[in-house]
Amino acid sequence: MIVKFVITFDEIIEQHQPITILKQFIHSGKIPHTLLFVGNDGVGKRTTAVAFAMACNCRHNISGYLSSNHRDDRSLPTGMRYANACGECRSCRNIAASQNPDVILLYPSGALLRISQIRELQQTLSMKPYAAQWRIVIINDAQTLNPEASNALLKLLEEPPSRTIIILTTDHTTSLLPTVVSRCQKIPFNPISSRALAKALKAKNVAAQEADVIAVMANGSFSRAIKMAESYWIFQRNWLINELTALPRRPINAVLALAELISNQKNELADLLTIIYTWFRDLLIYHYNPKKIINSDRGADIDHFSKKSSPSTLLEQLQAIQKAQRLTQSNANTRLTLERMFLQIWTTGTN
Ligand SMILES: [Zn+2]
Repeated sequence: MIVKFVITFDEIIEQHQPITILKQFIHSGKIPHTLLFVGNDGVGKRTTAVAFAMACNCRHNISGYLSSNHRDDRSLPTGMRYANACGECRSCRNIAASQNPDVILLYPSGALLRISQIRELQQTLSMKPYAAQWRIVIINDAQTLNPEASNALLKLLEEPPSRTIIILTTDHTTSLLPTVVSRCQKIPFNPISSRALAKALKAKNVAAQEADVIAVMANGSFSRAIKMAESYWIFQRNWLINELTALPRRPINAVLALAELISNQKNELADLLTIIYTWFRDLLIYHYNPKKIINSDRGADIDHFSKKSSPSTLLEQLQAIQKAQRLTQSNANTRLTLERMFLQIWTTGTN
């Protein structure tokens, strides 16, 4: 049995557009030396870059071999090379196992990509590739390049070494030097649809109802969806929803204690506020279009609690939550902000 180590284009979730562009580069034999993959965290930029490195160097590709497993590519005009990796040849296996010295991945060191890293890269690139047809450099999170590192990189982008492709990945281009951006061919990546995320989660044995909710809450990010599934996000959400539904019956001390408890979860504050917002959003939306609720696994509760609140009250509560989201992002006193928000929910809520 042949073990597939792969990350080939076929296994990447959605991203049909960038993959089509990359395949065209390989087919035409005209591969730009500098590429910029732009898209949110967790949508598959790095995975696609590795798959591209594989496809560029796949031995079956180079020899013009067409695998019978990939008949779709047979329709291509003769002379065009096959644009996906086989995932099985030595080159593919080495790349998948991170054992190919010609595929270089750079990550921020701490919060930044530093000049020392770019200098080291320059040193490496001044030598010939070891064995690969194409040496591929993947610079992840290029938005973290500091100014000196950006300037050093610019030199490489202006005169890329032969048989070398430099791929930068970033979630936005605004913090990159315009000269860096203009040197690269930009390839946009879209958020992954919630339908595809749900399917991917179910394939990893996440329970169907849980997968459906996480898929909507993960903002189109595969890595975020996986993290949510692995960290038992659903339990945290259930706890918080239970607190919210019990809130109107609780004494004021319990309301303030909840505000304090959540204000102490600094790293998860934004996520917790999103859960709170989504809950009240569902209660409001349920009045008009029950099919559009996000917390679909809590449908019975939403039905029950939605009927207890008028749309105008829910709208007021949503505005209070949005205000708290804004204020906590702008370094306001978190505890006071949350106290105000929960008190407003408490005073407007009904049993
Ligand atoms: Zn191969």
